[in-house]
Amino acid sequence: MLAGCKHKQPTATVISGVDYSQVAIPEFDADSAYRYTAEQLAFGNRIPGSKAWRQCADYLTAQMGRWCDTVIVQEFKTTLWDGTTVPGRNIIASLNLQASKRVLLAAHWDSRMWADHDPDSDLRHQPVPGANDGASGVATLMEMARVMSQMRPSVGVDFIFFDVEDQGVTEWSEAYSEDSWCKGSQHWALNRHVPYYTAVYGILFDMIGTPEPRFTKEEVSRFYAPGLVDKVWTAAAALGYSNVFVNQQSDAILDDHMYVNQNAGIPMIDIVQNSPNTSFFRHWHTTTDDLNSVNREALRTVATVTMKTVYGDFPHEK
Ligand SMILES: [Zn+2]
Repeated sequence: MLAGCKHKQPTATVISGVDYSQVAIPEFDADSAYRYTAEQLAFGNRIPGSKAWRQCADYLTAQMGRWCDTVIVQEFKTTLWDGTTVPGRNIIASLNLQASKRVLLAAHWDSRMWADHDPDSDLRHQPVPGANDGASGVATLMEMARVMSQMRPSVGVDFIFFDVEDQGVTEWSEAYSEDSWCKGSQHWALNRHVPYYTAVYGILFDMIGTPEPRFTKEEVSRFYAPGLVDKVWTAAAALGYSNVFVNQQSDAILDDHMYVNQNAGIPMIDIVQNSPNTSFFRHWHTTTDDLNSVNREALRTVATVTMKTVYGDFPHEK
């Protein structure tokens, strides 16, 4: 035993051993992320099998190909809760292919074909524009791919755009609903794009871009990846974002991270909007989830916290 050895109490900002204010990350351009959101919407509704969906898939594949080392398009067919069969495309773009340690960053890129939560019952069979619910997360990952490719972390990064996430059972249906959501991640988790693929951890974005971003510690994330939840919320607090990444526990959300955790065994958390007194956010599954639902600062905040987390663990090496 060493006499006189005094242990210092760690401060809040370095509790994980990383001073997040000092972690170097690439510069994220929120205007370009916003533009990528608008460009997805300009194709029309990204309903699996539609022309707009095909055009948007080609656009995402081409854009990611400009920045990443490879892009793999995983095609599949899946049957929805109403018995219809639709095609799906999971888009997987990778940086640093040779790295054995990898981080997975994901969002869903399809948009919901029924606005079944619209306050106007006449509009509930109309599609959801999906600006925040879908496009905002994809756009943020696109801009992250662009800037991270120029200042790479010392880890492999796989960006996955899951398809057919948002075509689950409608509120008017009595149909059997289990596993009717997240078809793309269900397919990918059991048929990974690289045999035996795994990642150190994964982070999922869903509905991250509202003008009032608010994320809580969701139960599935806490169950499967408690250390990562703590790390991300600690990084956010150190950066002054504890009003956005609120230190509060919340109930389980059925989202793509569930299947990645359960079926691929990769610890993955969900950064997902949790507005008080409403489902997710005010325009969730309505015809008004348009560009007014997307705020540049929110995209920047989520990208910054995520990159601080990744570069805190795997710094850029000059
Ligand atoms: Zn949705």
